[in-house]
Amino acid sequence: MNIVLVSPEVAPFAKTGGLSDVSGALPIAINNLGAGHKCSVVLPFYQMVRESGFGPKLLRTEKIRLGSEEFNAGIFFLRHENTDIYFIENRKFYDRQQLYGLPSGDYPDNHLRFAFFAKAAISLINYLGNVDLIHCNDWQSGLIPLYLRLSGNYIKTLFTIHNMAYQGLFDPQVIPLLDIPQEFFTPERLEFYGKFSFMKAGIIYSDAVSTVSKGYAREILTPEFGCGLSGLLQTRSSSLYGIVNGVDYKEWSPQTDKYIVQNFDENTLDYKLDCKKDLLKTFGLKFDARKPVLAVVTRLAEQKGIDIIAEVLKDILGLGAYFILLGTGNEKYNNLFSDIAKKHKNCVGVEIGFDNALAHKIEAGSDMFLMPSRYEPCGLNQMYSLKYGTIPVVRATGGLDDTIEDFNPANNQGNGFKFAEASAAAFYATIKRAVTLYKDKKKWLILQKNGLKCDFSWNKSAGDYLELFERILSR
Ligand code: ADP
Repeated sequence: MNIVLVSPEVAPFAKTGGLSDVSGALPIAINNLGAGHKCSVVLPFYQMVRESGFGPKLLRTEKIRLGSEEFNAGIFFLRHENTDIYFIENRKFYDRQQLYGLPSGDYPDNHLRFAFFAKAAISLINYLGNVDLIHCNDWQSGLIPLYLRLSGNYIKTLFTIHNMAYQGLFDPQVIPLLDIPQEFFTPERLEFYGKFSFMKAGIIYSDAVSTVSKGYAREILTPEFGCGLSGLLQTRSSSLYGIVNGVDYKEWSPQTDKYIVQNFDENTLDYKLDCKKDLLKTFGLKFDARKPVLAVVTRLAEQKGIDIIAEVLKDILGLGAYFILLGTGNEKYNNLFSDIAKKHKNCVGVEIGFDNALAHKIEAGSDMFLMPSRYEPCGLNQMYSLKYGTIPVVRATGGLDDTIEDFNPANNQGNGFKFAEASAAAFYATIKRAVTLYKDKKKWLILQKNGLKCDFSWNKSAGDYLELFERILSR
């Protein structure tokens, strides 16, 4: 099969969250399977890509028509590991500081930026020829299945939803600018409560829909998690699949991690202490071996249960723990955590920003990783944590529920701590349980080793994607 994965962010070129990790690792894993399949990648040529130092080369230029306007698309190319990567360049659209917007809000022309992206991706795919299937990811590539249909092009498509809450909703006035017939603006098609929805285009016009864990695939069929689209998804339930994300262990392994002060593995777990010392030093905190480090690396968004973390923070500190947070997002939370750090200089470290190297240091140097998400399509950090001997404390939702099993000290089964209710009380009770077990060094080591044994490598999930691609093509 000749597959092209289209994504608005792809590691290591451009990243805001887990979608990037997935879009970077899945094609490499497919190309590595050695079954003769090929997976190429298409993403926008952002300022972040320009600054990444990879230096893709200009392959060709094209004119892309959107409404009455014509835009230039530069197609840049790079061979990365075993994978062909194509970047779509238009300086006006993509040469900006961030991918989708600033903390104050989304860029107002995102509809044009990603309609252009969809059209340019299709044009590139037509130029490449012989493509069997386009794997579209999230609303930014949601118009691809629709544009294909409108132009009578029947390349098969899979639309993968990485987060139901981000739907690409725009004022209906944009419709003529996107070359979409006005009659598509009905609730049965692309209208979503008075807005024009890119995500609905992906869901309705693709050959199959998937999401990033089996748990989340079940959840989004319910009103609680479907973000207003559970009814539509139910109509597609026979073509809706859940495939859990894998982990790129080349990037996330303490044995080889190039960002951490001391590499370690299951036989040298005590070296992790050096990473803990280094992490505390990075945040200007004095090292105390008895105190566990509880950490968070996340987008500061409601989804992640940030408010619950803020609510229990004082109590966490009361248990004699350090708290470290790396994150950025909602301005309200940026300020909240900056203020908290100022108040608790001895035991709290906060970095507001996006810093991949620091994210690695935190995985390696902390003892527990907190993820009290209200919902979590898959979640990656809980799986990264397991490999670093850092114990996840998670809420039982979506992919977190699928990948983390609550530790039972009676039979030593389990790889983390898990709670059900999205409340500060339930979260705190679970943290307390974890901090108590942390004092029992023997049990803690068993728990860490249980986590180290877990294997969430891409091989299995890449095989599942191939099976799904085959199923779509055979229809
Ligand atoms: P989501 O995609 O919802 O943001 P995931 O858990 O699936 O959540 O993936 C988050 C990814 O983004 C992880 O690789 C995590 O380390 C990374 N990440 C999130 N916030 C930051 C940050 N502020 N700095 C560095 N990496 C971050």
